[in-house]
Amino acid sequence: MDQIKIDNLEVYAYHGVFPEETKEGQIFQIDAVLYTDLRPAGETDELTLSTHYGEVCQFINRFLREKTYLLIEAAAEHLTQELLLAFPRIEKLELELKKPHAPIGLPFENVSVKIERGWKRAYLGIGSNLGERQKLIDQAVMKLKENKMIKDVKCSKIISTEPYGDTALYEFLNGAIELKTLLVPDKLLEFLHQIEAEAGRERKIHWGPRTLDLDILFYEDFISNDPVLTIPHPDMENRLFVLEPLDELCPWYFNPVTGKNVRQMLRELKESKASVHAEGDGKA
Ligand code: ADP
Ligand code: MG
Repeated sequence: MDQIKIDNLEVYAYHGVFPEETKEGQIFQIDAVLYTDLRPAGETDELTLSTHYGEVCQFINRFLREKTYLLIEAAAEHLTQELLLAFPRIEKLELELKKPHAPIGLPFENVSVKIERGWKRAYLGIGSNLGERQKLIDQAVMKLKENKMIKDVKCSKIISTEPYGDTALYEFLNGAIELKTLLVPDKLLEFLHQIEAEAGRERKIHWGPRTLDLDILFYEDFISNDPVLTIPHPDMENRLFVLEPLDELCPWYFNPVTGKNVRQMLRELKESKASVHAEGDGKA
């Protein structure tokens, strides 16, 4: 992806664990690489279609001068987050925060931390089979949109499906959601659980009737085997009500574990269901 690069921006600020550092202050230097599509600005010569690097530098200066952190790790973490929120055209950000006069008591040239942060694409499954189902789904989508750490929320068509599992009674409404987020997978799941709780979800019976179910299907090409958070969602291959809405949003998205894309998983599931039906008809 295209880049805007800032080298050795100098800022006078007050971060450090020693009292003299927060009192006297010292020079910090910043290298930043802003990953962003420069073609629209390149083609039109229009500044509003790019990210104003002067404003980015002023923002960094203001942020680092006004706040005080003990650690440059914390200063870098918070600064990258605020930059990504303030300049929406930046997809990803590399930031190195250098402290050339850190009180180490030995000769050295520089010490720094370097981090990379960015918006991550995730896909969610959403479902409800209890209460005012459509309204609960709409409210959940609203809550996703209202979280500043989430953007570009797109919802598929909502489809109606037969209950899944032994204990579910009512028809499900199901859909899929695409979004971009600055939340790491654990924190995204935590937020989804919060939305479920606000919708009055009670975790009584697995697969039982529920006001709202929000699952993480994909998070970029991230893989996790942890039962608390398994990504990609392990059951997606067996669920038409997940794959059909997902196919509307991202037919060519790959499951990084199986190497199959959504369209292929959907086709294979439909074929296996058709052959089970055909066998059943044969026996009857
Ligand atoms: P299900 O979604 O399978 O019908 P629940 O919504 O009751 O069941 O989820 C049970 C647990 O599954 C959650 O507490 C959560 O920790 C865990 N879980 C594991 N992987 C995921 C995932 N990808 N998305 C959402 N929950 C997950
Ligand atoms: Mg769930």
